[in-house]
Amino acid sequence: MEQTKHLPLSLYGLEAETIAEILSLTKNFQAKQIFNWLVKGVYTFEAMTDLPKAERERLSSLMSSACSSSIHTSETDESGATKMGIRLHDGKVVECVLLVDKKGRHTACLSSQVGCAQGCTFCRTGTMGLFRNLSAEEIIEQYIHLLSASKQPITHIVYMGMGEPLANIAPVTRSIRYFHNPKTFNISLRRITVSTCGVVPGILKLAEQKLPVKLAVSLVSADNRLRDRIMPVNQTWDIMTLKKALLHYQRLGGKRFTIEYCMLGNTNTDEISAKKLASYVRDLDVIVNLIPWNPAEELPYQTPTEEEIDHFTLLLDRLHVNYTRRRSRGREINGACGQLAVPINKGLDLDYESMVDEDDE
Ligand code: SF4
Repeated sequence: MEQTKHLPLSLYGLEAETIAEILSLTKNFQAKQIFNWLVKGVYTFEAMTDLPKAERERLSSLMSSACSSSIHTSETDESGATKMGIRLHDGKVVECVLLVDKKGRHTACLSSQVGCAQGCTFCRTGTMGLFRNLSAEEIIEQYIHLLSASKQPITHIVYMGMGEPLANIAPVTRSIRYFHNPKTFNISLRRITVSTCGVVPGILKLAEQKLPVKLAVSLVSADNRLRDRIMPVNQTWDIMTLKKALLHYQRLGGKRFTIEYCMLGNTNTDEISAKKLASYVRDLDVIVNLIPWNPAEELPYQTPTEEEIDHFTLLLDRLHVNYTRRRSRGREINGACGQLAVPINKGLDLDYESMVDEDDE
């Protein structure tokens, strides 16, 4: 085996020029051919049929695959949603989902970390702790694996899988630039949503980078004491610090974002919670996305009753809050990151409408 260069685990996310250098290609157009095959989801050199046979053999002896991960499990439900467990090079598994909505839009829901350090108490991933960050290549490869199961192009991306994307911002933004690149998938930034539990430095960095993706901010409560308990991130960046960061993001051209309000029965659905929420969002250009919490037996919450939800929305109506309400159909992802950490045999818990704006064609 040729051992002249240190080879990366994956060629995803690299420009053709870098691929040429890494693989010691003498013809630059061959690097472009490889780049194009990778975008099509072909990552074994023997399958890159427009390369000369001898070159394919040389490259295969260098790297058995240009992709560092593989599909570990895959299951599709009756709505057409496919949930995959992706095995990483070190044996860890992350989850990603291909969602197909009523309008036929195909959305990839991607993980950004193995586990998560944020510890939100309503989230299954939060109970796992953080194992490690994903690299940009590993994020991109999730999309590539989902593409192999999709009958149509995947036109929307939500970073709402395992992990807090803004706690792993450099690989996440690198993957966003890759997806947005006209030479790859040319996905519009307004079709890319990054969720966050409120990691303020990440929001500020995203604003500085002028990468106007959509933000989905998981608020859950506009009361500091309650939010401290439900989302430990609030003990570092409280709701007013978060609000300042959001206003800054909007001032610097960030697109309209959503406030994700996961409704927890008998916890954040009373009149005081509604008033605090109304006052919090008053000067933000924002839509509040109300999502009833989906039950998870190991977590200490309950799904709000229909009456509780009706009452809360009535209060918000009176307070002139701009909100959308997602009906619970028992198969929801809670509109926040991390809700994918469900054992696969428990089925798919998905509500893609909470992830993709209805006005987005
Ligand atoms: S909701 Fe998101 S940020 Fe919070 S613990 Fe879950 S994965 Fe982490």
